[in-house]
Amino acid sequence: MKMSMLHCPTLKEAPKEAEVQSHRLLIRAGYMRKLAAGIYDFLPLGIRTLSKIKQIIREELDRAGAQEVLLPAVQPSELWMESGRWEQYGPELLRFKDRKGTMFCLGPTHEEVIVDLVRRDVRSYRQLPLNLYQIQTKFRDEIRPRAGLMRGREFIMKDAYSFDVDDDKARESYRKMHDAYHNIFRRCGLEFRAVDADPGNIGGTLSQEFQVLADTGEDSIVSCPACSYTANIEKAELVPPPPPSEVYEGNLEKIFTPNRRTVADVTDFLRIPATSLAKTLFFVADGKPVAALIRGDHELNEIKLKNALAATTVYLADDASVVDWTGAPSGFVGPVGLSGNVTLLVDPCVAAMPQCVTGANELDQHFVGVVPGRDFPLNRVVDLRLAKEGDPCPKCREPMAFFRGIEVGHIFFLGTKYSIPMKCTYLDERGNENPMVMGCYGIGVTRVMAAAVEQHNDDRGIRWPTPIAPFQVHLITLGTNDDDVVAASDMLYQKLLAQRVEVLLDDRDERPGAKLKDADLIGLPIQVICGKKSLEQGGVEVRTRVNGESRVVSLIQAADVIRAAVVESMAQWSNT
Ligand code: ATP
Ligand code: MG
Repeated sequence: MKMSMLHCPTLKEAPKEAEVQSHRLLIRAGYMRKLAAGIYDFLPLGIRTLSKIKQIIREELDRAGAQEVLLPAVQPSELWMESGRWEQYGPELLRFKDRKGTMFCLGPTHEEVIVDLVRRDVRSYRQLPLNLYQIQTKFRDEIRPRAGLMRGREFIMKDAYSFDVDDDKARESYRKMHDAYHNIFRRCGLEFRAVDADPGNIGGTLSQEFQVLADTGEDSIVSCPACSYTANIEKAELVPPPPPSEVYEGNLEKIFTPNRRTVADVTDFLRIPATSLAKTLFFVADGKPVAALIRGDHELNEIKLKNALAATTVYLADDASVVDWTGAPSGFVGPVGLSGNVTLLVDPCVAAMPQCVTGANELDQHFVGVVPGRDFPLNRVVDLRLAKEGDPCPKCREPMAFFRGIEVGHIFFLGTKYSIPMKCTYLDERGNENPMVMGCYGIGVTRVMAAAVEQHNDDRGIRWPTPIAPFQVHLITLGTNDDDVVAASDMLYQKLLAQRVEVLLDDRDERPGAKLKDADLIGLPIQVICGKKSLEQGGVEVRTRVNGESRVVSLIQAADVIRAAVVESMAQWSNT
């Protein structure tokens, strides 16, 4: 490809709203443009990188025995009603009517559609196992689209679904996909971890996320440096504290705490550490009031709360509801004497306090000397808090480390969550009807592209891992009005094409400085500079983008040397 023909509008400045490197660089280097919040156009270079990511995915999934299909983006509401998700999914699901008034949605994921496809045509155990995947545009009306491709509203996903006769076989399918995902992300040049995760909206029992390590990631991951335990912070199991070491026999006492609402206000006022206070947070879970009690220095994990309640929607209660339920505004509420209508969940760290300070359910009043189990019930003690730095590993008790990650893939063992309600069954050898056992497996294709840029860039631009670079070699002609230079670079260009090297020739009539800047910004792994100076030195300069190393190679040898460099840099990311 010649750059004079390529639609690659590079920019000096990134858009103001771009908060992360991948967003800034993909716009500046002419890979994409924004159409609306979370919705992007992909330009020719962007398409080439996406195609390469898709190709790697296809090769690895085909190798794992999966087959490609393409399902519609527009999905009828009836299917979502059958699975029960039409109600559950919330405003991320974009719903609309057709001209006859029939309700549809734009697919945020495809469990319903694939189950419907499979239940119609697969009837016998002989047709199983089956693993179908697609690479397609999804729409989720995300509340906060951010960071360019990282969290878009329209984005490209690979989703796969496995169908098996029983749990054991389904676990085998899950394991195969787990291994295929390792190969895919390695080949895309990513440094990643597979971490235990919460199944969220999709459901099921076992799930892992593939997290790319990057400071700009939205997810927090805990990882034990001593053993292999790694989990999303939402999921991280915590070691329960030992029971209280002493028994407090003093009385409960009400004290005046004027205007002291926050943990910091109250603990400063009473001169106690935050570990001596228990804070009470009120939620509405599927329409019902819930109080969650955690230690003053801890943070609540809403995912754990939601799972403990087996609720579909959980949100923080507003002030009016809190006053209604307790008689006091938030800041002065607590578990003592709470109405029986409110479900009280207590974190084990609170249950293990010999005594604590809580709100007194009265304006400007707190209780001190509150004894868990004596002054409020401990019927439901459940882990509710977020892991924090230094928490011991649930497996080996060493302190866990934290890092940030970008979730590029997520695999779920679904079991019969969809196959039972949607009657996706098969006949076994004896002619009995059984539900199929399912798994589902997603990869954010556009997010992989952004994650790769997050991990591979410097202050000059992108530094693509070779397997997903739009081209492998950037051949830059410096001095397009010098016949010798043009002849030499044309000859080398033709030779590289003949050797099947993917080469982008910068034949534009631009200043050398501008061309070299664009090359660094676009980020192809091997740069070849052909100019008057390099020819005087005996040939062309071959530079590696990742470390800036360069050498002059004679024109005669150049094509072979460049091809060998491409092969070598591809090998670095291969699976073998
Ligand atoms: P997240 O927690 O980031 O919202 P999710 O759990 O909703 O992700 P899945 O439903 O598992 O995501 O979707 C599969 C994959 O699709 C994710 O692992 C991620 O890589 C990608 N993905 C999900 N939402 C988005 C989005 N809004 N923009 C880009 N990619 C996304
Ligand atoms: Mg999501």
